[in-house]
Amino acid sequence: MIWAIAGLAYSLVYAALVAALDDAHLRLLVGNVALLLPPLAPLTVVVWRRRRWRGHEAVYWGAIAAWALLWFIGQIGWSNDEVLHATPNPWFRWHIILQLCGSALPLIALVARPHRREAPERAVTSVLDITVLVVLTAFLYWSLIIAPGTERAQSSMALRSLAIIGPLVRVASMAGLLWAAWDARPGPWTAVYLRMTAGLVLAIALLTVLSMMVVRGGYQTGSPADVGWMLPFFFAAWAAESAPVSSVERRAVALTPVRHSSPALLFAAILTVPFLGYGLVYFAPMGVVIDRMREIATVATLVGGIALILVRLRVEQHAVEQANERVRLLAAACEQAVELIMIVAGNRIAYANDAFCRAVGYSREELEHVTPVALVAPESQADVPALRERLREKQAVRSTTVMLRRDGSTFHADWTASPILDGAGRITHVVGVVRDLTDDLRLRDQVVRSERLSAMSELVSGVAHELNDPLQSIVGTAQTVSGESSDPGLKKDLERVRHEADRAGRIVRNLLTFVRKSAGERVLLDVNEVVQSAVRLRAYGVEIAGIEVREEYAPNLALVLANRDDIQQVVINLIMNAQQAMTGSGVHGVLSVRTAMEQDAVIVEVRDEGPGIPPEVAGRIFEPFFTTRPAGSGPGLGLSVAFGVASAHGGTLELIPVGRGACFRLTLPGGGFPGPRAVH
Ligand code: ADP
Repeated sequence: MIWAIAGLAYSLVYAALVAALDDAHLRLLVGNVALLLPPLAPLTVVVWRRRRWRGHEAVYWGAIAAWALLWFIGQIGWSNDEVLHATPNPWFRWHIILQLCGSALPLIALVARPHRREAPERAVTSVLDITVLVVLTAFLYWSLIIAPGTERAQSSMALRSLAIIGPLVRVASMAGLLWAAWDARPGPWTAVYLRMTAGLVLAIALLTVLSMMVVRGGYQTGSPADVGWMLPFFFAAWAAESAPVSSVERRAVALTPVRHSSPALLFAAILTVPFLGYGLVYFAPMGVVIDRMREIATVATLVGGIALILVRLRVEQHAVEQANERVRLLAAACEQAVELIMIVAGNRIAYANDAFCRAVGYSREELEHVTPVALVAPESQADVPALRERLREKQAVRSTTVMLRRDGSTFHADWTASPILDGAGRITHVVGVVRDLTDDLRLRDQVVRSERLSAMSELVSGVAHELNDPLQSIVGTAQTVSGESSDPGLKKDLERVRHEADRAGRIVRNLLTFVRKSAGERVLLDVNEVVQSAVRLRAYGVEIAGIEVREEYAPNLALVLANRDDIQQVVINLIMNAQQAMTGSGVHGVLSVRTAMEQDAVIVEVRDEGPGIPPEVAGRIFEPFFTTRPAGSGPGLGLSVAFGVASAHGGTLELIPVGRGACFRLTLPGGGFPGPRAVH
């Protein structure tokens, strides 16, 4: 606002001063000096605020600054002619072209359309378009007005054209600015354009008066109507000072594709140049010198214009290539991301990455016919409406849901969904990033389980040690008394006592295996050989039960530092459990035993085709005395002993999820030595 007030004050003081001055020469001097200052106002503001603008905003204000600069340089030329070379009203000189082109820039600058907030990539195109238009304007002014004006015979006609064109260009600029102000509604740019327009409205009124004075020959620099040249600059400074700052937000890929305005119109405009230039030479010849200059101007404009259009095409091509490159990079990132990514459009899955397809078990083509809601398991369906509502409010949503695979199985997933908005702020798509929590949950279960097992092992260890000594003493005492007694009835009873105490002792020893922190004597073992011998030991029983044993031994197994008996015991326990599970459910399936190397660890897997282990039981099977078998048929120590052995060896024993039956995996850390068959 301060600039507009300063402009009005400046103009008033100027008008009053020149009106008060009697001396024509002094008026000329004051007029020339006073006309030099106003263009510096927008120039200063634009230079001052230049870092606040980017892209199209920067181009627009650059063009406005160019207007002020061209006009300023032109004015220096004018003053030089008038004041230093005593040539009054030098209308048809080089500097007038600069001022005329400058005055067209408030209109031409609108090509940048700064209020549209288009992608900054397109800003270069605007610069080139503006340059071509300025070159064309210069050509038109020169060929149609300035060149004829230099001929004395035609100068009054040219002056009349100039007097009409001056205010007309401003009327056109005003119309353009009003259109832009309307187009920019309701944004902050409307006010900016209207401020520019206000300056031009005042200029039009005053310059019309000035033009009439020029035509009548009554104009001289230093007239109060000169204010018409000055005011628009102050209003432009006001507009620039209050113009919005460019937002720093920059999207790597705009949702709307980078589309450049077609250069066809510019081509057509450039093509009129030779017709106009040579046509004028032919139909309105003006002597050899001027006609030669006209020809040169025509060729120069044509070549310059075409060169600029070619540069524009190249720049556009480059921008499109860059945009494509970015799109390819983002597509590859989505495609190869470990997270599951899908993009939903309406009620349809528009895109899903490989990880997503793998996780839900659908192919990409199948997913096209699946609605996103169909991927939510029934137990999570109730949450869907509320989540949808939040998305509709353009909020990013984060939730945990049970998801449904194609085969009907489910998995827990943690996901976020964010709406993708178009330029008008409408939701066009929703992008969902899903994380499969299966591994996390398994890990959490494992931690809980191992904490529970370690608490239990403390307790068991205490009890077992307390029981061991009394049991030893019962066995010893029973043996001694039995040896001393001759009563057969008593001997029989004592034998039963000893037998039961022995059984209790075995249980206690097993319990101690479960809690043992370190394994017994360890040697470097070939696990394949240990597993083979364990299978052989159990082969008879398994065959009798009608179960087929399938063995698969990895040839490159590393040696493991372990206690042979313990490892064999683990494998035997697993085989016995597998056998019992299969015979218990009347299945005569396959029992597979497999060894493998995974990273540096040796793996033994025992898998059966029995009924499997229900989830509610799976968490407790490694606990001592946990059993689902009828009382008396198993103490429930097999797996806990195996678990204790695995832990004592620094390894793990896990239940692996498989489709059918149960699969136990024993993992033992490799001893760092290659296995026998790997050594040649
Ligand atoms: P026990 O065999 O004496 O019951 P374990 O500790 O060996 O004790 O096993 C605990 C429980 O784990 C078993 O009662 C059974 O319910 C379950 N289990 C173990 N192995 C299998 C298997 N291969 N298939 C099905 N259930 C199993």
